[in-house]
Amino acid sequence: MSCYKCDAEVVNKTIDWVSYINGIKVVTPDIPVEECPNCGEITIDSKDSETICQNNKGFYDKEFSLDIHLKEIREKLGLTQEEVAKRMGWTKQRYNAVEKNKSVPSVLLALKLANALECDVNEIYKLKVVSKRHKKILLECQ
Ligand SMILES: [Zn+2]
Repeated sequence: MSCYKCDAEVVNKTIDWVSYINGIKVVTPDIPVEECPNCGEITIDSKDSETICQNNKGFYDKEFSLDIHLKEIREKLGLTQEEVAKRMGWTKQRYNAVEKNKSVPSVLLALKLANALECDVNEIYKLKVVSKRHKKILLECQ
C-alpha cells in the first residue's frame, strides 16, 4: 500500500490510540494502523474507528473534580489546624475553609500549602473522574 497523500510506501503497525475527552486521557489499545514514514499520515479502518468511538462514548458524561487530602496529610504530620494556619500566615478560619473545600486556593497558594506541609501539591489535590450526571444528583440532594 502507498500513502494517498505522498505516494510513499506505508508501514503497518498496531498502536494504542489516545483520545482526550474533557481533559481525560482515553486509550483504546491495539488499533491496527497504516503509517506513512514520509509524511506521518496515519490511516485506520472504519471498523477500528468505530471501536475507538464506542470506547470514547462512556467518557463524554465525565469530568474531573477535586479530591482533597489536606486533613490526612496534616494529621500524619501531627499538626493542628492552628499550626498549619500559622505556617501559612493565615487565620485558622481561612485554613479551615480550605481544608473543608469551602475555599479552593489559587495554584500559587496550593503550591505554598504543599511547601508548608512538606509534600507535593498533587498529594493534597488529586484529580478524580466523576460522572456529570452523578454530580448533578449530588447537587440536587443538598
Ligand atoms: Zn505520506
